[in-house]
Amino acid sequence: MAEPYTVLVADDEKVIRDGCTLLLQPEGYRVVTAANGKEALDLMGSDKVNVVLCDLKMPVMGALEVLQEAGTRHPDIPVIIITGHGTVADAVECMKKGAYDFVTKPFRVDHLTLCVKRALEKQSLERQTRRLLEEQARNLYTLAIEQSRMHTIVNCMADGVLVTNRDAEVVLCNQTFRQLLSSSSSLPLPGPLQDYCNDEALQAAIQTLLKEDAAEPSKCISQELCHGQTHLRALSAPFFGPDQQVLGTVTVFHDITRFKELDQMKSDFVHMVSHELRSPLTAIKLQHGVILDGLAGELTPKQRELMTRAHAKIQGLLDLINDLLDVAKMEAGHRQLEQVPLPLEEVLAEVVGLLQARAQDQKVSLKLSVPDDLPPVLADRQSLDEVFTNLVSNAVNYSPDGGDVTVAAVSHNDYVEVLVSDTGIGIEAEEIPKIFDKFYRVKHPRARQVIGTGLGLAIVKGIIEAHRGSIKVESTLGVGTTFHIFLPTASAAWVGEHAG
Ligand code: ADP
Repeated sequence: MAEPYTVLVADDEKVIRDGCTLLLQPEGYRVVTAANGKEALDLMGSDKVNVVLCDLKMPVMGALEVLQEAGTRHPDIPVIIITGHGTVADAVECMKKGAYDFVTKPFRVDHLTLCVKRALEKQSLERQTRRLLEEQARNLYTLAIEQSRMHTIVNCMADGVLVTNRDAEVVLCNQTFRQLLSSSSSLPLPGPLQDYCNDEALQAAIQTLLKEDAAEPSKCISQELCHGQTHLRALSAPFFGPDQQVLGTVTVFHDITRFKELDQMKSDFVHMVSHELRSPLTAIKLQHGVILDGLAGELTPKQRELMTRAHAKIQGLLDLINDLLDVAKMEAGHRQLEQVPLPLEEVLAEVVGLLQARAQDQKVSLKLSVPDDLPPVLADRQSLDEVFTNLVSNAVNYSPDGGDVTVAAVSHNDYVEVLVSDTGIGIEAEEIPKIFDKFYRVKHPRARQVIGTGLGLAIVKGIIEAHRGSIKVESTLGVGTTFHIFLPTASAAWVGEHAG
């Protein structure tokens, strides 16, 4: 149960003290009394007094002095002056000094209780207001600390940060951003995005993220930008309000100039080494061929066996070098694609035909199941040969004796799907995302028996993506694998090109 409010009655007349007690107690108040102002002040300090009824004139200390003292010591306790009719002017004077109200003797019961009730309401409102003000001050302080902490963190970040509002205006950017993009510190905030960064691709990415239909929490756009000699990776993401509406975007800029330089050095190195090795190896292979063909004299069976093994090793090395050169070219963007409308059935038939002998050697059945009316795809012949040779060779190589490999194709609306399926060793689910990485080879005992570089699928994926296509794998360990390759038809690719 809530504690009752305490009313202090200060009056030198006992009859008034008792009268007030009799009137207020039945209303649920706790009443304490004092015979003069001094006693009243003592009680205000020691007892939990909520409101004071104070006689105007008392011996020892009257209401005016009580008000003066209480004003500094207990400012939140309202004081109601008890006064006779003749002294109303004095009571008004007391109100000027801070009294809450006055009641005239003899009291009317309802007037007295109403006055006390109002004084308590006022006190409660004042306390509530004070609490709210204190809370607001605390919140503002916490907010200020939080803001200053955020400001410090954002400004000390080694990466550039750029924040826009939903109108694509820049509302925040840090020191690193200004340094990386040579942006002037005198630009206004908020300010137009193009004043801060004139990269059109970045502006378009931010506009895309701000569009309502892009409001997926996980959506972000990664881009590479070039600013003078500086290469940057920009990762832009939207941020959302409580109703999931896009409020703006945050872009983080990471300086990748050094990585780019190292990457270029690596590519140059691979290119140089590969070239230096390829020519002598090709010459050795040719000379081996001449010897194996018997043009340099008869070979004993042992010599033939050794020469054949050496020949296979040289071929393996040449394959590795060619793959390395392919990857280096692709990564440097130097791979030229001569895209023309290509009948896929022809490409697939040729690849299957060329690999038939190897499949037979490995006792694998290799079948082609492609309709005649496939729409042409816009592609580079040599690159597609490489893609399907890689995939079909893998299917044959990773299949046991008696395995089946099928190459099929299906036409969908604006793309063609090619399926290269085998009944081979399969790939574990957790390995699937890794097999397209450069040099990655699955550590399967059967896979180890196949000579390979781990570069084939990286090249395949690079070529397919350069043709605006995609590749997907489905596999069950011990049952088999199917690679699905999706390529846009020539007409769809043409529309895509011209739509930008
Ligand atoms: P590799 O030269 O090793 O064949 P790839 O990049 O072509 O390199 O393939 C990467 C790895 O993916 C292979 O080492 C193999 O473990 C796995 N792999 C590729 N194709 C198949 C397949 N059809 N069946 C089972 N595993 C495969």
